Amino acid sequence: MKGVFIPERDPRDAIRFMLRQAMEKGLLGGILGYRRKNSGLIYPYLFTSKEELSQLVPISPVISGYSMATLSSWITTNGYSGEKIAVLLKPCETRAVIELSKFDQVSLENLLLMTVECLGTYHVLDFIDMIEGGESPEESLLKSYYSREDDAFREACKICMYSKAPYSDLNLCFISLGGKGLVVETSSEKGYHLMEKLGFSVQELEDEALEVIDIRKERRKEFLEKSRQDLAGPEKINEFFQDCINCHNCMEVCPICFCEECFFDADRYEYVTRRFLNWSPKEGTFPLPEAKIQFHLGRALHMSTSCITCGLCQQACPKQIKLSEFFILLAEENQALFDYVAGRDPEEKPPIREFYEEELEEYTGGT
Ligand code: SF4
Ligand code: SF4
Ligand code: SF4
Repeated sequence: MKGVFIPERDPRDAIRFMLRQAMEKGLLGGILGYRRKNSGLIYPYLFTSKEELSQLVPISPVISGYSMATLSSWITTNGYSGEKIAVLLKPCETRAVIELSKFDQVSLENLLLMTVECLGTYHVLDFIDMIEGGESPEESLLKSYYSREDDAFREACKICMYSKAPYSDLNLCFISLGGKGLVVETSSEKGYHLMEKLGFSVQELEDEALEVIDIRKERRKEFLEKSRQDLAGPEKINEFFQDCINCHNCMEVCPICFCEECFFDADRYEYVTRRFLNWSPKEGTFPLPEAKIQFHLGRALHMSTSCITCGLCQQACPKQIKLSEFFILLAEENQALFDYVAGRDPEEKPPIREFYEEELEEYTGGT
């Protein structure tokens, strides 16, 4: 592994320092990251001057609202070709950017992917509670990282296998250093050149995997087994989604769901009264809102092979439906079927865009 070791510094200061230098030297035109409000809350912001960087939160304790992957897509989809913009991302967000690039939803050309090492984030409501209770979520997060305690993190995080992104321009690693330093892995040519232009000398460094990932492997296995049981068959799937109000929040925040108009939001699903009156006696019971199961299955069909298991769908659900169980299970099984890993490699073709006559014959019977 090649990279740069910046010793002794608080990793947050080291990241801010690097970014300030990059702006001063004109290497970056903007930085997409979180900005702190006076209240302690944070929000996504496109930094365009080095003076503002004192308010940058480089190691965010939460993914608030939209994923940085979605925001990266919004700011580059219209063929952006200006100055380079760096984005501070969690590993799941970087994987989502890679997936979006395969569907022409993000332009990687002028983006610099800076992935911040991660062992988890808080649920946005827990984050707000912490602030209201006078606790600093940022400090608590770091304490948890350094002691490898992940009980307070979101469910998807507790079984996440990616403390770093498999593909990124830079991976910013600090957890094993316990607050004293930063390792900047230069994982692409673009990342390498940035560090060189900043005056750092890129060297061969030792690659250390965090031992906590082994514990998570077991936890993930148990989680998937439970999900398989909870979702075994149509009746259980109906029961699983019975409280769903079809609000589509889960779709709205999903970094992989990018269609401008969703089929399930189309007029087709605005039925006239007569149809309800005809359906109801036929069905014996008529679950409203209509089409919610079709919505979830349709969504799963479209994006489970690119799902990066971030769990943001579950965080956004006002009915606390355990969507991570549903999507992580489907992502795991469907991606394994195609020997595919979402976000692993920008050159890997997404299964939903490729069709081979001879594939999955055990299901299609070769027809
Ligand atoms: S899902 Fe993984 S990468 Fe994303 S915030 Fe949670 S632990 Fe970090
Ligand atoms: S379906 Fe849920 S877990 Fe999968 S990418 Fe979308 S928000 Fe993340
Ligand atoms: S966010 Fe929750 S309630 Fe809304 S559509 Fe999704 S599963 Fe249903």
